[in-house]
Amino acid sequence: MKIGIDIDATICTDCDENTPEALSDEWKSSIKNSNAIPYAVNIINSLIDQGHEIFFISSRYSSDRDVTEQWMKKHRIGKHVLCLRLPELYGPQFKRILIGSLGLDVYIDDKPRLIEIAKELVRYPILFDNWLIVQLKLEYIGAL
Ligand SMILES: [Mg+2]
Repeated sequence: MKIGIDIDATICTDCDENTPEALSDEWKSSIKNSNAIPYAVNIINSLIDQGHEIFFISSRYSSDRDVTEQWMKKHRIGKHVLCLRLPELYGPQFKRILIGSLGLDVYIDDKPRLIEIAKELVRYPILFDNWLIVQLKLEYIGAL
């Protein structure tokens, strides 16, 4: 399966959403210092081991790519594709285009608004609450 996963507040905590995203140093250091949400890394790596394709889809700007990939490496997240927002698109619009064009089977996000969008585009939209619940849902649909 092709599985799309949001980043902020879905796989990592502590990113200060009040910090303006406009390429600030504070934003970059809040990315660097954020913690992985419990069980996220293990469950995502299990999905990768099962042969699923993982696409991280984030409204972070493409200038945040290096710091985001460093975070992935630090937390030992396996093979994935990182899709970051183009500056000319606002977050939900970018995600709508990406989710639709990648042909995802599953999309996981903490924002109900994005799950509403994903409902029209993917077979299994999953509103993130905690990773143990997500794991049960992934087992139910046969992804794990
Ligand atoms: Mg989020």
